[in-house]
This record gives sequence, structure tokens and C-alpha cells, in this order.
Amino acid sequence: MPELRDDPVTGRRVLLAPGRAARPHTVAATPPGPSLVEDCPFCPGNEHDTPPERCRTGAGDPDTPGWRVRVVPNLYPIVGGADAGPGAHGAHEVVVMGPDHSCDLARLDDAGVEELFWVLRERARVHVAAGFAHVQALVNHGRAAGASIAHPHAQVLAIEFVPPLVREVMGRFAAAASDIVAADFDTSRAKGGAVIADGSSWAWCPWAAASPYETRVSAPDAGARFDLTPDGSLAAVARATRDVVAALARVLGDAAYNVVVHDAPAAGDAPYHWYLSVVPRVSILAGFELGTGVMVNTVPPDDAAERLRQAIAGADAA
Ligand SMILES: [Zn+2]
Repeated sequence: MPELRDDPVTGRRVLLAPGRAARPHTVAATPPGPSLVEDCPFCPGNEHDTPPERCRTGAGDPDTPGWRVRVVPNLYPIVGGADAGPGAHGAHEVVVMGPDHSCDLARLDDAGVEELFWVLRERARVHVAAGFAHVQALVNHGRAAGASIAHPHAQVLAIEFVPPLVREVMGRFAAAASDIVAADFDTSRAKGGAVIADGSSWAWCPWAAASPYETRVSAPDAGARFDLTPDGSLAAVARATRDVVAALARVLGDAAYNVVVHDAPAAGDAPYHWYLSVVPRVSILAGFELGTGVMVNTVPPDDAAERLRQAIAGADAA
């Protein structure tokens, strides 16, 4: 039967309506595709098909092969560029996860995913130092999640203003005068929503998850700002995020998903606890959601967490 839940972090209202869920969960592992694709602009050897690179890890000269993670400006930026209007200045960067065309976030090894997050934090630091108001790090995986190029990549955007959603969450955090992200983890865990709780990282399906298999990831001492995250916490969140998307692939197949960092604004030291959301795109925003802003979730988060825990345990046993 339907149940109304309120998300203490975002303020979203969610109708949990599991009676509508009918999605089968019989998924074979997707075999990896080719390592190299001739006409892919992000594959090694095609470096000149992107704008000149900003930075890299690994070996080699700029815009030549040898890199492990490579950062380039987005060819079709949302913000920034010479013709940007008032309020639309900024930076929009692509962070290519690795030279292997088919090694997506779920397939990165520990060193690979830790390095990816290290680069994302470095880019956030650069944009904060440049005076931008807010930095958004994200991964769009699959067409339904907004990815237009298949080669696995993350993105970093720096913008001139603090977005309304960020302002609202910061306001809720300050008004609560307590760590509402940690409290959401505790509450969700008590209701069966924990996916990973190993002391150094948290992954959980929030009790008021707005969509099927939505999962939050953080670390106990992640801190308020992504760019200031301690090394150990950053690495722990990186590994946990990889484990969650790998588990999702085992449960949902090669479903599209977004990974979205929910960060504090660049300026100030307001209390906050940054976290990221992994949001599989297995449901579609329909008229009710668009009209009311109330989300409808057909998969109980404790059921989702149970399946993800099983998938992680299965991967560990394999
Ligand atoms: Zn490629």
C-alpha cells in the first residue's frame, strides 16, 4: 500500500508505491566491450579530437597517449566560453576515467577509482581557488542519464552562483543544528537500508528514496566540502561508489545512472556533510511528479539495499 515519506536532507516528499513495481531482476553480467574504438574522441591516439587538455595523471606529453586520467574542456559547455552571458560564466570539464573504452566506473580497480576521485577533488580545488561560487562533480552513465559519448568519463562544472537546491539543503542543515546526513544514514540503516557500513565509508538507500535503488554514499569524516575532503575519506568514498555501481550492474544490468556530488558552496564554512547520490535511471518522471514535485518510488529502499548487499557479497565471494 502507498506510504508518504519525507526526506530529511532534501525536503522532498516521496510516495512509496511498491504495488506498481514489476521490474524483473534477472540480469546476466554484461561482458565488457572493446578497449579501443577508432573514432572515439576519448580513446588514446585521438587526443587531438578534444580541446587541448587541462591536466592528466600518468605519463606522456599533453594531447598524446600515456595518460591514466585526462581532463579536457567540454566541447559543448553548459557554462563558460567567450560568449557566456551574465551569470553563465564558468567552467565545464570532462574527466576521462581511463584509456580503456569499456572500463566504466563499475570496472575500475581500487587504484583507478581512487585516482579518479583524486582528480575530481583537484579540479574542484582549482575552481574554488578561481573564485567560482559552486562546483558540481558528476558522472552520467548511459544515454538515459545524459551521456552523449560512451567512453567512461566524469564531469566537473564550476558556476558563478549557488544553485537553489544547494541553498535549500544548506538551510535545512543549519536549521537542524545537527548532522542530518549522518542522521539519515543512521535512520535508514535502522530500517534495513544500509548497503555498506564498514567504518570508513557509508552507502545507504535512504528511507525516503525518491526513485528505485537511489543510493547515497559518504564517509563519517567526509567534512562539509568535497574539495577539502581528507585523502582517506575520499579514497573510501571512491571505493564504495564503485562497489555500489558494480552492484547495481549485477542487479539491474547495464542501466543508465547518474552519480551526483551534493557539495556545500565554495565560499564560507557553514556546517554540512557532503555526500553523493547514485541514481539509476530505471523510472521516468511522469505527469504526477512534474505537476506536484512529489516523487513516486516503486521499490522499497530496504528491498533495494538487500539486493545491493547480496550483489556486493556475491562479487566478494566470486
Ligand atoms: Zn573511447
